[in-house]
Amino acid sequence: MQSGSGVCRLDVINDNGDEFMTDNTAITVAYGDGIGPEIMEATLRILKEAGARLMIDTIEIGESLYLKGFGSGISDEAMSTVKRNKILLKAPITTPQGKGYKSLNVTFRKALGLYANVRPTIAYHPFVATNNPGMDMVIVRENEEDLYAGVEYMSTPNSNFAFKLITHQGCERIIRYAFEYARINKRKCVTCISKDNIMKVTDGMFHRVFDEIALEYPDIKNNHYIVDIGAAKIANSPEIFDVIVTLNLYGDILSDIASEVSGSVGLAGSSNIGREYAMFEAVHGSAPDIAGKGIANPSGLLQAAILMLEYIGQADVAVAIQNAWLKTIEDGMHTADVFNTQYSVKRLSTGEFADAVIKNLGKKPSKLAVAAPKEPRKITIPEAVIPDYAEELMGIDIYVKNLSHSTFDMAEKVEDINQRFELQHIAVRGIKVWPGNEDLKFSDDLWRLRYIKKNASDNINIADLLQLQGDIYNLGLEIVLTHNLCTWNGMAGFTKAQGE
Ligand code: NAD
Repeated sequence: MQSGSGVCRLDVINDNGDEFMTDNTAITVAYGDGIGPEIMEATLRILKEAGARLMIDTIEIGESLYLKGFGSGISDEAMSTVKRNKILLKAPITTPQGKGYKSLNVTFRKALGLYANVRPTIAYHPFVATNNPGMDMVIVRENEEDLYAGVEYMSTPNSNFAFKLITHQGCERIIRYAFEYARINKRKCVTCISKDNIMKVTDGMFHRVFDEIALEYPDIKNNHYIVDIGAAKIANSPEIFDVIVTLNLYGDILSDIASEVSGSVGLAGSSNIGREYAMFEAVHGSAPDIAGKGIANPSGLLQAAILMLEYIGQADVAVAIQNAWLKTIEDGMHTADVFNTQYSVKRLSTGEFADAVIKNLGKKPSKLAVAAPKEPRKITIPEAVIPDYAEELMGIDIYVKNLSHSTFDMAEKVEDINQRFELQHIAVRGIKVWPGNEDLKFSDDLWRLRYIKKNASDNINIADLLQLQGDIYNLGLEIVLTHNLCTWNGMAGFTKAQGE
């Protein structure tokens, strides 16, 4: 079925005689690793029986490709197929342990510009056991920025850091997407989750842009939670949330908490949406602990496939599968992960569960809410305009190696070295150690010197900053990293040190 280096195969799953005359949509399918092939086979069988109009190219990705030396887990040829078809239905993959393997999921999100990760999570009470019967929430997670930019440095053997990159247009795009999604899907409230009490610049911008854009949607309520209490509320009272929009890392963690408290990690599907491409997958991983046993729940991937069918305009098929699936769950036809003594009638294998859904095609649930056809869900967000800020260069942060760890020695050395700049403070790990806190002891070796122009009306430029760095170099100090300090429209583009 799949050939060696990820080459594709064409399969028309609803061949009504002439593949060139059908309105079939070309999609790419990846069977993945672990339970991937089992749940993909079950999902595609249901899609076929439900009449999904698809032409399928199959690609090989994941562990086998990594082990063949493809560091990103995919061949160029397979990636070309994904780009040609624009729609990818993907089973989970296993990323081998160890350095040198890049996450294929992150590669897809970046290479395909999949900026919005949309994860609906619903409780199917009482048929799937959960403490949160009223749960029906959607997490819209920013998918391309944040710490997932993967820019990390070992600045010294002791001090390592990662770039948390947040852009204004990235915030605007995902927040607009969340409000548009809420409007189209008749949702009532969008909640922003950030940590802007600590990360005032990056998360602060996310929250600020959220507040600005919320004003354009007076028909939709909005609120904000700090991520720690937000996570606690999702775990304990998820029914208070409707749509959540959040940054990449928080979204990753929060959506797993959400799917777990809904009853099973095996139930939720997700879509990854970009301007041109879209990828649909289950929320869970490749579950190597149960792979090959035929007991995996295919529902997460099936839910992803339903989102895909809505996206490509086959809402008729999507709704038929969803209702058949709800009826199957309601009838107590359950895979092992959701099997419970009260409501389960039969414990089914992956294949038997697919058979049960197929048998229910054309039927509707009688207790769970019947699904209604949805409009195609394409949400187009215009490219954000980067705001025009007036910039004033104020100074520079210079990070130097300090192995003596003495604040006094360092301050004495670097305080008066340039006529145009004043050493405003020395900080270690963001904490001010000079002036005033010289008694604080740090064994850190990466110290920050913050220089601000002495005269507020002085028009300093980059050459002046380089001159200052030359002065530091001449003292015999090793500069590891620098960052210019600016104000934008008079607003400081940098945080104060703790204790400043
Ligand atoms: P996991 O989601 O694979 O498994 C967690 C637990 O949930 C396991 O006990 C598993 O048996 C169970 N489970 C998951 N899906 C299930 C299903 N459909 N039916 C029944 N039970 C199910 O998470 P993990 O064990 O942390 O990760 C395993 C591998 O998956 C790792 O290599 C990881 O990198 C990868 N992963 C891939 C993706 C992806 O491709 N999108 C996402 C997450 C993890």
